[in-house]
Amino acid sequence: MPASSQQSNQASTKVNLLSLAPQDMADYLVTLGEKPFRAVQLLKWIYHHGVRDFNEMLNISKNLRQTLTENASLELPELISEHPSKDGTVKWLLKLKCGNSIETVFIPETERGTLCISSQVGCTLNCRFCSTATQGFNRNLAVEEIIGQILFAVIRLGIPKSRGAKKITNIVLMGMGEPLINFDNVMKAIELMLDDNAFGLSKRRVTLSTAGMVPAIYKLSETTDVSLAVSLHAPNNELRSRIVPLNKKYKIEDLLPACRHYIESKPHRKITWEYVMLKGVNDLEEQAHELAQLLKGIPSKINLIPFNQFPGTEYECSSTASMERFRSILINAGYPTIIRKTRGEDIDAACGQLVGEFTDRTRRQQRLSVPKVAPRSES
Ligand code: SAH
Repeated sequence: MPASSQQSNQASTKVNLLSLAPQDMADYLVTLGEKPFRAVQLLKWIYHHGVRDFNEMLNISKNLRQTLTENASLELPELISEHPSKDGTVKWLLKLKCGNSIETVFIPETERGTLCISSQVGCTLNCRFCSTATQGFNRNLAVEEIIGQILFAVIRLGIPKSRGAKKITNIVLMGMGEPLINFDNVMKAIELMLDDNAFGLSKRRVTLSTAGMVPAIYKLSETTDVSLAVSLHAPNNELRSRIVPLNKKYKIEDLLPACRHYIESKPHRKITWEYVMLKGVNDLEEQAHELAQLLKGIPSKINLIPFNQFPGTEYECSSTASMERFRSILINAGYPTIIRKTRGEDIDAACGQLVGEFTDRTRRQQRLSVPKVAPRSES
C-alpha cells in the first residue's frame, strides 16, 4: 500500500482507491487475485462515472465487488462550505480526515473551466505577499486528498455526459502549498489527471506552479511533461530573496537553467513566469527591462498577477497604468504577456488568498516544547 494511503487511513484499514495511480491499481487488484486489466474498469467507474458504491459497478464480478466493499474505500474530502462568487468562480472549503481543511477553487470561463487545487496543508515557503504563508504549515497532502479535490469538484459540478462536455478542462496546482515539496504524491496524482481512464486531461492543460525548487525541477523533467509555471516575481536576486525567501537557497542563476532544461526536449513548450504586481516594489519600468533581459533566449510567457490583498499585508497592488506599462515593455521585447484577470476576489478565492483552516505544526511543536509553566490556550 502506498505511504499516502497508510497515512490517511489510520482509522480504518481500508485502502482508499483514490490513492492508487493506474499501475498501483493494477498491482492492488493482482494482490486480490484479479487480472490487472480490471484496473481500467475500476478507474472508469470511479473517474468517468463518479460511482462511489462498488455494488453499482455492474461489469465487475459480484465477488470482486464484495471484496472491494470489505477492503477498499473511495473516501472524498468532505464539503464544509461552498462560496460562489459573483463572477461564477466557486470556492470550496473541504475537510480532511485529520480535521484540517483546505481550499479548492473552480474558475469557469467561456472556453474552459479551471480547477485550482492545493498540494499541502499550508506552506513552508513564507513568500512575503502570500496569505497562505501567514497560516504556517501543517503537512503534505496524500494522493487521495489531491485527487479527492478533483473528483469532489467533478461530482459537485455534475458528471459530464461525454468527454466533450467536461466542465473541468484545466487543472492548476496553484492552491495552497508548494507542489514540488510534495513530489511523490503530486506525481501520482498527475498520473491520474493525465490517464485516459481517469481524468484524461492533456499535459498542456495541467499546470504545476513552483516557487523554484531547483533540484525538483530537474527531477520533474524526468518524470512528467505537464506545463510548468514558475513564480519569479522579481528580475534580480536581491529583490527576489526579499519577497520569495526560497531564492536564498536556489538563486535565479540556478533556477533559469533548470527551467530551460525542463522545456528543452519538449518542442513548442514555454515556461509561464508568474509575476505578482506589487506597487513600488517590483513594478518599475526599469524592472520590466531587467526582466526582459533576464529571460532572453528562454521560450517564455509572462503572467502578471494583480496582487490580491489580505489583512495584515504590507503590500499594495500596482496601479492599472503601471501594470499596463510593465506589460507593454515585455510585449515590445517579444514576450507574450497578460495581466491575469482576478477571479473570485469577493470570496477570497484569488491567488494567494487560500488559507484553509488548520494548526501550524511547526509552531505548535515549538509551543509544546516550551516547559509548561502556565497553560496556554491553543488557538
Ligand atoms: N507554491 C507554488 C504554488 C502556490 S502559489 C508557487 O509559488 O508557485 C500560486 C501563485 O499565486 C504563485 O505565483 C504565487 O506567487 C501567487 N500568489 C501568492 N500570493 C498572492 C497574492 N496575494 N496575490 C497574487 N498572487 C499571489
